[in-house]
Amino acid sequence: MQIQWFPGHMNKTINIIKDTLTKVDVIIEILDARVPVSSSNPMITELIGNKPRLVVLNKFDLADPDTTDRWMEYFRNLEHTLPVKVSSKTGYNLDSISKVCKELCHGAKWIDRREVRGMVVGIPNVGKSTIINALSGKKKVAVGNKPGLTRDLQRINITNSLQIYDTPGILWPKFEDKIVGYNLAALGSIKDTILDLVAVSRHAIEYLQLRYSGRLVARYNFDELSDDSYEILLQIGKRRGCLQTGGIIDIDRAVAFFLKDLRDGKLGLLSLEEPDDMIKREELAKEEKF
Ligand code: GDP
Repeated sequence: MQIQWFPGHMNKTINIIKDTLTKVDVIIEILDARVPVSSSNPMITELIGNKPRLVVLNKFDLADPDTTDRWMEYFRNLEHTLPVKVSSKTGYNLDSISKVCKELCHGAKWIDRREVRGMVVGIPNVGKSTIINALSGKKKVAVGNKPGLTRDLQRINITNSLQIYDTPGILWPKFEDKIVGYNLAALGSIKDTILDLVAVSRHAIEYLQLRYSGRLVARYNFDELSDDSYEILLQIGKRRGCLQTGGIIDIDRAVAFFLKDLRDGKLGLLSLEEPDDMIKREELAKEEKF
C-alpha cells in the first residue's frame, strides 16, 4: 500500500531543518540500532552537507551487539560523522552524546567559549523524545507512538556543554523501499494496519533463517527448520494452538504470536540489517535501474 501523506509535511519539515541548520553546530541523527538504514531519512545526508553529524544508534539494549559494532565501524568511515551506541531506556552510554558532539566540533574557534548546539533529527519512534527526556532529566517531550504529531521547535539545555534543538516537524523513512516498510513494521515502529502482516512476518522470518536460524529452532522447538517462511508461520501457529474450526491454522494469530515474540525480545537480541546487506541491496537497486 502506498503511503500518501508525506510530501506536504515533509517539505515543511525540510524547510524548518534548513533554517535551523544555520543555528547549530552538529546534527544529532537518531537511528534504531537494529535497522540503522531502514530507520533513517533518505534526505538527511544531502540536507546537512558538511555539517558534523553524530549518529546515535539507539535501542542498543535490543540490538545484536556484534552487528552494532559493525555499524559503528561503517559510520566511523563516513565523512564528518561519528557514531555512538546508546539505550535511552536503560541509560546506557547516554553521556557519550554530549562528549562526542564536542569531539565533532574539535578545533572550532568558539569551543572553549560556549556550549555546542545540536539539532536532533530522526523518523518517528526511533526514541528522540526518550533520549531528550533522559538527557535533560525532565519530562519535556511526550513519549509514545505518535506518527502524525508535529511539535514546535524547542531548545533544551542538556549540560553546560550541550544545548539541543528538538526535531522540527516529522521526517519519514524511505517508504518507497518495500524492505524499509517491512523492517519498521516488524519491529513495531509503524502502525500494524499499514502493511500486510503476513508479508512483514515472512520477511522477518527469512532474515532470521539467514542469520539467526538457531533462535527460531530454540524458541519454537522445531525439529528442523523449513526453507519456507510461510510453512514456518504455520508451524508456529500449530505449536501455539492457533487453530480455527476444522483444525485449520489461524495464520493471523500465528503472525501475532511471532511478531510479539520478535518485538518483546523473545528471539534474543537481534538486528535486521547488516552493513554487508546494504551493499548488496544497493547493487540490486542499481541493477534494477538498468
Ligand atoms: P520518537 O517518536 O522518536 O520521539 O520516539 P519515542 O521516544 O516516543 O520512543 C518510541 C518508543 O520506543 C517508545 O515506546 C519508547 O519507550 C521506546 N524506546 C525509546 N528508546 C528506547 C531504547 O533505547 N530501548 C528500548 N527498548 N525502547 C526504547
